[in-house]
Amino acid sequence: MTELLGGGADQPSPALVIDHAALIDNLRAVRARVAPAELILVVKDDAYGQGLAPIVATAVAEGITWFGVSDLGTALEVRELAGRTARVLAWPAGASDGVDRAVRASIDLGVGDAALLETVAAEARAAGAVARIHLKIDTGLHRNGFRPEDWAETVHRARVLEQSGFLRVVGVWSHIAEASDAEDDAARALFDAAVEQLEAAGMRLELRHLAASAAAFARPEFRYDAVRIGAFCYGVRSAEGPGAGSLGLRPVATLQGTVIAVHDETVTVALGSLDGVPSTLAGRVAVGTPAGPRELLRVDADSLAVLGWPGAAVGDVIAVFGSGMLGERSATTLAEAIGTIGEEILLRVSPRIPRLHRGTAPVASPER
Ligand SMILES: *Cc1c(COP(=O)(O)O)cnc(C)c1O
Repeated sequence: MTELLGGGADQPSPALVIDHAALIDNLRAVRARVAPAELILVVKDDAYGQGLAPIVATAVAEGITWFGVSDLGTALEVRELAGRTARVLAWPAGASDGVDRAVRASIDLGVGDAALLETVAAEARAAGAVARIHLKIDTGLHRNGFRPEDWAETVHRARVLEQSGFLRVVGVWSHIAEASDAEDDAARALFDAAVEQLEAAGMRLELRHLAASAAAFARPEFRYDAVRIGAFCYGVRSAEGPGAGSLGLRPVATLQGTVIAVHDETVTVALGSLDGVPSTLAGRVAVGTPAGPRELLRVDADSLAVLGWPGAAVGDVIAVFGSGMLGERSATTLAEAIGTIGEEILLRVSPRIPRLHRGTAPVASPER
């Protein structure tokens, strides 16, 4: 349970409170749901703004063995945090500085363009290592990935590099929109064809992975060997999708602020747009107060105006999103009010807001 306490010395406010008991429950629920497919826990963007190291520590203690990140720097950090036995998959976009270090650190590399494929082979050769790569097919999202018309040539080239001993194609993957079933089905057909071509060329794939949160949960045929999930593990449901509660998940992060002034009709809370509360939320959502939901009237640079309640007092704590006084209110609820996605609401929370980790698992030092 997230505690929402007033501002004592050990309780800075505002704060993003990270509930590790919720994280653990979500991880278990997600794994149970997608089994026997493997969960690749996505921890990109500082674990969606919640703090990479504590999130990885709890995941490792829960037995999570696969982590997904976008950039190579974070991949190396996760390697340090999670130990030698964890598998870390990175999907660097564009510039590929640090490939040599990543290969040496046994980071699995998502490769979606020909230049990166050659770089990885060259760096592995120079390092005397064998790079583990996951070839990415573009199944329609056009966010990086080999185009289907280039796939045959890609498979051929990767096979040549594999036979030269510089790399092993251990995985094949794609990223899908998860916006409509029809589009996702079309993407899946392209994916299946790509897998077939790889296998026909003699590649021995360990991991085929296509889905992120939404498709992994809703559609078993999208699970293959593994699913890459961030949002749902953090209790952030899809916009317009089923509620987090009905998915068996709850918000891990709660953004809380403290009342600093009480007026006739309203209260002032020390939290504002500079802290990452979108000003467009004013008049569109309610925040959680000790007396229940109250309308968010105004978002200023460093304060919120909230409709008051009987007995409101300086020091009262309110929640903008998360669990606690709101019942369950994921960041997605706010996102829907302003036409964005829940992840965006989380990522906007300013780095200057302290992250308070509650119920952190005791961390055994990882094997190195
Ligand atoms: C962010 C990301 C994911 C995770 O998506 P969620 O919707 O947060 O589960 C999966 N795969 C890739 C390539 C990503 O960039």
